[in-house]
Amino acid sequence: MLDADFFRRWMTATAASVDREAERLTALDSPIGDADHGSNLQRGFTAVRVSLEKEAPNTPGAILTLAGRRLISTVGGASGPLYGTLLRRTGKALGDASEVSEEQLAEALRAGVEGVMTLGGAAPGDKTMVDALVPAVDALGDGFAAARGAAEQGAEATTPLQARKGRASYLGERSIGHQDPGATSSALLIAALAEAAE
Ligand code: ADP
Ligand code: MG
Ligand code: MG
Repeated sequence: MLDADFFRRWMTATAASVDREAERLTALDSPIGDADHGSNLQRGFTAVRVSLEKEAPNTPGAILTLAGRRLISTVGGASGPLYGTLLRRTGKALGDASEVSEEQLAEALRAGVEGVMTLGGAAPGDKTMVDALVPAVDALGDGFAAARGAAEQGAEATTPLQARKGRASYLGERSIGHQDPGATSSALLIAALAEAAE
């Protein structure tokens, strides 16, 4: 079973990984965006870390719901509302249980990813975070390590795609040949989930 500590570890591991990789995320957002993805997420997950310490929510659902709210209120740009929706919807689906099973988490994350797709209108293949999140959720039944591998592969597979959503889509064919920054950060989020499970 996965308890509140597991979800806190997931969020702090994500914050640490976003700190480490912020420059790379911003560099990926330079040719096909506005070079702010790393700093956007760094600001957001720093706020998440601070709020989790201050408010000390103590159920899996409350932790993810608070994290999602903080991302929405601190990250400007497309990724804040999208990641905020992902975590808020996932948290809401977990309800107020003090522990959840891996199957419950997989089901809740699926609801979260559906929330992202509804809000942003992106489908798999549109060269967005959805291209890492959908394969990760599909693979979660085989465990956290499988989900991490699927997310990383999904992020890498965005390189040859033409963007159909978000800022990168304004470039048309010129968006081809660059890995999507949001799919890359989604792979970090899923890798942090696997890290929390170790
Ligand atoms: P902004 O583009 O507003 O500067 P960020 O740079 O923080 O926001 O985030 C960009 C990322 O957000 C993209 O790489 C993409 O993965 C994701 N994204 C943008 N628009 C959408 C959308 N409509 N649906 C899903 N993901 C999106
Ligand atoms: Mg940007
Ligand atoms: Mg921006």
